[in-house]
Amino acid sequence: MADRFWEQSIEGGPQPASGSRFDIIVVGGGPGGAAAAGYAALAGHRVLLLDKAIWPRDKTCGDAVGGKSLSHVEELGVLERLEASPHFNITGVLFSSPRGDEIRVSRPDGQLSGYVLPRLQFDHIMFQRASELVLQAGGAVVQGFSVREVLFDNSANGPDPGPGMGNLRRVIGIAGDTGDRARPLSFSASLTIGAGGVHCPVATAVVQETYDGRMVDRQKLHYSAAFRQYWRNVTGATADSGPVEFHYIEGVLPGYFWIFPVGNGVCNVGFGITLRDLELHERKLRGLQEYIINEVPRFRDRFAQAELIAGSSRGWQLPLGSPRPSGKLQPRRAFAAGAMLIGDAASLVDPFTGEGIGNALLSAKLAVGHFDREAHARGFPLEAGARYQRVLWGKLGYELRNSYKLQRLTRRRWLLNWFIGKARRKAELQRALTESMISREAQATLTSPFFLLRQLLF
Ligand SMILES: Cc1cc2nc3c(=O)[nH]c(=O)nc-3n(C[C@H](O)[C@H](O)[C@H](O)COP(=O)(O)OP(=O)(O)OC[C@H]3O[C@@H](n4cnc5c(N)ncnc54)[C@H](O)[C@@H]3O)c2cc1C
Repeated sequence: MADRFWEQSIEGGPQPASGSRFDIIVVGGGPGGAAAAGYAALAGHRVLLLDKAIWPRDKTCGDAVGGKSLSHVEELGVLERLEASPHFNITGVLFSSPRGDEIRVSRPDGQLSGYVLPRLQFDHIMFQRASELVLQAGGAVVQGFSVREVLFDNSANGPDPGPGMGNLRRVIGIAGDTGDRARPLSFSASLTIGAGGVHCPVATAVVQETYDGRMVDRQKLHYSAAFRQYWRNVTGATADSGPVEFHYIEGVLPGYFWIFPVGNGVCNVGFGITLRDLELHERKLRGLQEYIINEVPRFRDRFAQAELIAGSSRGWQLPLGSPRPSGKLQPRRAFAAGAMLIGDAASLVDPFTGEGIGNALLSAKLAVGHFDREAHARGFPLEAGARYQRVLWGKLGYELRNSYKLQRLTRRRWLLNWFIGKARRKAELQRALTESMISREAQATLTSPFFLLRQLLF
């Protein structure tokens, strides 16, 4: 592999003529879209993969590629590329309480919990592989293409759009351009997969609750804002393997501060908090991070010799998978006739840890698995989308609800102090925490009021 491959461009092949038809259009080539395009091409579908960015490109992130992602990167054939590229091996997680107590949690089976590597590298590996697979299967890849409109079949005999869809009928394709709005191009497909992240145009077109100002007001609990920087030489975080760190800090709760080493003495350092909680603070995101690094003694000391990498300070949003109050306390709707949403476009970020890559990859695989080229040749039906959502929520709903409960616990400073303080001394709590890294049942135990009360009393 070429040195610093992540700085090279990625070959996309010829641009298809406007009006071309595909089996699947994938809008967005981040981890979710790249995985969807890759899985679809491996299944023999003709795919059009579109992204408004041109590689190499960065994505603001904590850069942790957790355990849930590993089977997918292996199936897509990029595990070797990932391991050959500079990275940090995650062996566990370190939590600290507002009082400054620390606990370290590792997987009970001693296995790796994942990798940390800059998204500049990870997304390059994913997009390059997806492009190879898509082109081999007769599809097309267009970078620098902004999707501006989702096209619908609004004919009277179209399928029932389902609740919340107004008069819209089936999604039949997209329109957009490569920079010149006067020269729009349109493409059609049986299925359009929305993988365009937090502002995905497909999600905006087919889901009522979208991040578009007016709607978000009621939904601020379900979106986080986060800020990221890269630092060199942070004391205690210069090795190439070890724990990733989450810190709960007086004055900035219920947000959390992370230090995720990426290897070679560099760390991804950031701060995340829900939009609603951010409003309660006088400082903005950058100000809160500066406060932690410059004024909180235990971090001021660790950053005293550290150097901020110029140009690395960036903020972005995370659409959380916390249960919505309507209906059955499930995440956000993820389908329409003709379309499925995956990753951030389906609002699947873990509300406790902020991880979204694993769920993006998982939802990509599930979405592609619900498409049948022959049966859906005249359009992906609403019922197939509903089946995808049932399976998706069946797999993720339980853990996202538990993560939401854990996120809510972090609102109480005394509880964090007590919990982390107690966990340092109590074998049973440490066991529950370590097991919760791999078991859904252990996660439920952790959030059970009975378990917490028993720990408090005994
Ligand atoms: C500060 C921060 C820290 C985070 N830390 C972590 C972490 O450590 N680990 C983790 O697992 N997750 C983390 N997340 C969440 C993670 O970044 C996302 O969940 C993940 O990127 C989702 O992948 P995706 O493919 O769904 O969307 P994205 O990665 O957002 O990709 C969307 C793609 O769609 C393209 N696009 C958007 N609009 C259009 C359009 N109109 N036309 C064409 N293309 C379009 C974009 O250019 C982009 O390439 C973090 C998020 C933030 C903001």
